[in-house]
Amino acid sequence: MTQPTQLDVLAIAAHPDDIEQTCGGTLLKMAEAGYRTGALDLTAGDMGTRGSPELRLTEAEEAGRILRLKHRDNLRFPDARLENALGARMTLAVHIRNLKPRVVILPYWQARHPDHYRAAEIGYEACFLAGLKKIDEYSEPHRPFKVMYSSVYANVTPSFIVDVTAQFDRRMEALLAYRSQYGAVAEGSHLFPNEPEIHDRLASVARFYGNLIGVKYGEPYVVKEAMRVDDVVALPVRSF
Ligand SMILES: [Zn+2]
Repeated sequence: MTQPTQLDVLAIAAHPDDIEQTCGGTLLKMAEAGYRTGALDLTAGDMGTRGSPELRLTEAEEAGRILRLKHRDNLRFPDARLENALGARMTLAVHIRNLKPRVVILPYWQARHPDHYRAAEIGYEACFLAGLKKIDEYSEPHRPFKVMYSSVYANVTPSFIVDVTAQFDRRMEALLAYRSQYGAVAEGSHLFPNEPEIHDRLASVARFYGNLIGVKYGEPYVVKEAMRVDDVVALPVRSF
């Protein structure tokens, strides 16, 4: 799963387990539709209270297998102090050039955790840089066609919502693969919600967004461009 391969969809996130909480259902749904999907986690969570970075990388591999990712890598940028610096942007841009995704999923650009909004910023700028011929002579230029922002933790109206009803349980299974973070007996367990609480929380949020499009579970996204429609007769989601 660590060999570079050309992707249709690439999710970029700050921490291992972010994609499992935000866009994992969409990634799994796209993999089931035959697309090649992948994830780049920018940090290994080395400031986390529980477990170790090495353990989280192993857990991320397992979660990626459940989500049927063709590729997952961790750039090992410093956790909790992610900086939008030239080196970070360039490193990420070269990964994007090698993976050649058509679509990139980023965290929403406003968030409580600084790593999350910085990941959005670094991700967007790296996508732009990746298209410039002269930034790196050893890789070919590639600029993704589309950037979409996962807005599950942002209190904003989504541009669209993906129905992940059929994928929700496996997305939950992928999240719980991070046993060092969500296990009941792990150290510091008084600081962390337990497994039923996690399930309840994520299901409520996914249920809320699903309800907006008339399905059980959904994952919301924001895009900066307008959505184009060619056939208004086929528009989904009923008004009454
Ligand atoms: Zn995170």
